[in-house]
Amino acid sequence: MNSDAASALTAASKRLAAISETPRLDAELLLAHALGISREDVLLGRHTGPVPTAFDALVARRAAGEPIAYITGTRAFWTIELMVAPGVLIPRPDTETLIDAAVAHFRGRPPRRVLDLGTGSGALLLAALDEWPAATGLGIDRSRDALAIAGANAERLGLAARAAFRLGDWADGVSERFDLVLCNPPYVEADAALPRDVAEHEPHSALFAGRDGLDDYRRLAPGFARLLQPGGIAAIELGAGQFSRVAPLFDGQGLTISMAQDLAGRERCLLLAAGLE
Ligand code: GLN
Repeated sequence: MNSDAASALTAASKRLAAISETPRLDAELLLAHALGISREDVLLGRHTGPVPTAFDALVARRAAGEPIAYITGTRAFWTIELMVAPGVLIPRPDTETLIDAAVAHFRGRPPRRVLDLGTGSGALLLAALDEWPAATGLGIDRSRDALAIAGANAERLGLAARAAFRLGDWADGVSERFDLVLCNPPYVEADAALPRDVAEHEPHSALFAGRDGLDDYRRLAPGFARLLQPGGIAAIELGAGQFSRVAPLFDGQGLTISMAQDLAGRERCLLLAAGLE
């Protein structure tokens, strides 16, 4: 790395330390974005010339609280890179827990049909289609903006032929059965204090779910088993500590209910398995 770039990164990460938990990483991603190259290429010094003047403006936006993924317009998730914009929740590493759990379940017999409820950027559906090359899937969202972004992501990733998207409210009107149902619903309590960059920039409709954060699980649960093929599973994201309150909502449908933890050991994924009949 040339000394200009090195000192620009040091200065930027100092400036970002007040807002970000990952100031150095943020600075590297913003410099890569300003240079139009990958972060790896920045770190390996594969660029010449001065630091672009645009870098300063990008750092200023981040310093004012804008999430890094909305500034660069992209976010890595599982094996894919997604375009993101303020109309969709930024995919989180925690959400990869759902794909991880599905991979463990379907080892050796890949799912053929995948449903993603509240698809947002398309992250879960497209990660699943990338994981299982013979699978096809449907992503549903009630936001037209989100569907436009999800569709563009499917195109960009070369997955459009296997991904369909539909405007809708959760699984209302869905009569098909799926091998795998994925869902990252809103689950934040109404009065929870979210980090400032999340609260001020990400869509509240994708975050908050009523006073106790459980409103959308209550909407999803009735008749949920009708969506699953025999031997199929659903992986539904949970807020940390919500398992014991969410699991009973899905009782009485013949589903086997379990939980998967995220990498930090928090309850993160409700697993619902349909028997083989
Ligand atoms: N895990 C997210 C957060 O803490 C919330 C995502 C969601 O509600 N599905 O910001």
